Amino acid sequence: MNKKIVIVGAGVAGINAATKLVDNGYPGELITIIDMGKDPYNRKAEEVMEGMLGAGGWSDGKLTYHTAIGGQLSKYCGEKKAMELMDQVITNFKRFHPKPEEVQCSNPVEEPEFIKPYFGLRLFPVWHIGTDYLSEIAKNWYEYLVSKGVNFVWEHKVIDIDFTKQNLLAVDWFNTPNLAPTEYISYDELIFAVGKSGIDFAQSLAKQYELPDEPKSVQIGVRFEAPQHHFQKLIDISYDFKLYKKFEDKGVSLRSFCTNNNAAYVAVEETYGDYSYNGHAKKDPKYKNDMTNFGILMEINGIEDPFEWSRNVVNQCNVSVDIPSSHSPTGESFLYKAGLYYSPSFRQPSFTSENEPVRVIRLTD
Ligand SMILES: Cc1cc2nc3c(=O)[nH]c(=O)nc-3n(C[C@H](O)[C@H](O)[C@H](O)COP(=O)(O)OP(=O)(O)OC[C@H]3O[C@@H](n4cnc5c(N)ncnc54)[C@H](O)[C@@H]3O)c2cc1C
Repeated sequence: MNKKIVIVGAGVAGINAATKLVDNGYPGELITIIDMGKDPYNRKAEEVMEGMLGAGGWSDGKLTYHTAIGGQLSKYCGEKKAMELMDQVITNFKRFHPKPEEVQCSNPVEEPEFIKPYFGLRLFPVWHIGTDYLSEIAKNWYEYLVSKGVNFVWEHKVIDIDFTKQNLLAVDWFNTPNLAPTEYISYDELIFAVGKSGIDFAQSLAKQYELPDEPKSVQIGVRFEAPQHHFQKLIDISYDFKLYKKFEDKGVSLRSFCTNNNAAYVAVEETYGDYSYNGHAKKDPKYKNDMTNFGILMEINGIEDPFEWSRNVVNQCNVSVDIPSSHSPTGESFLYKAGLYYSPSFRQPSFTSENEPVRVIRLTD
């Protein structure tokens, strides 16, 4: 009980680890969490990857914690324990929710006959927290950990870890672009929880320390939007329906994920200069628009350099268009960058919840 624990990453994993420690009586004063993003009071809605509650706890707010949907947890602790731990994450999200009674669970128990000829439907529960509550959850959770004595170091990026000396180097990420001054922090135990935004760093450490890795499939996806009534029969059975289909001969599989209904908006997220399209579902009835949107994800096996391949796809899907001064709202020409969208019926994308057009460039036939 006297070891200094450093957690790199204040995402869903890092924050739950700290919570579990202090809930079990570990002194918060011995826990330091370092994150390159911001605390929940200063983190902006559009900063989707970095900061308090990381990517998964800030953007959409649908919790699909189940071993059947992916992840590696059950490999290390077994199926039963993995499910138990994931239940604890759900419980924590409800615990810090300002209106836990509004958390909705969709739990399909049987594949409906009408879908069987076309797709499989995965059967497991999904919790819908409400996109509009995430910021409050993050604040409540943060305050709890601070009240327990946990130290937070925000806006610092860890750029080096010496596992032999048990110290790490964190730099003041935002205030000093020339990467100085530096700060060495020592630890007795390290929890490395950097998520997707830390992939490059994790990879460089894996290389440096010759840690074993394993090939992964590539996942690429599009977001589909349509009026809700087309999907109502399915939504009544599963709010966040996970349809899937395998194409063994082609080495790919397809699945739907992250379905948003009732008050459903396509949200454009800019991450490190690229545009991607997420879905948000608000709880407040004033946002009701009777639309549905969901992701369609293709998993592709056997790609030799998945990172380079994915980067190439992203580059091709993010395009720029020269807007001449005659079409510019400011009267000055500029370069408009966005992702692509396509509609066979020439349907225009819906507006955002702020009543603005979704930033997209139409893909022509
Ligand atoms: C845009 C987006 C939306 C998503 N929405 C959902 C959803 O609604 N529901 C769901 O269940 N899953 C969602 N996911 C998946 C979800 O992000 C992950 O399952 C979950 O966030 C993983 O938690 P984590 O703590 O491992 O990583 P993250 O949540 O990504 O957190 C990692 C944290 O580490 C910090 N970090 C990274 N590198 C460094 C470094 N070198 N130094 C300091 N700090 C560092 C980052 O700033 C970040 O805060 C979403 C993913 C993305 C990308």
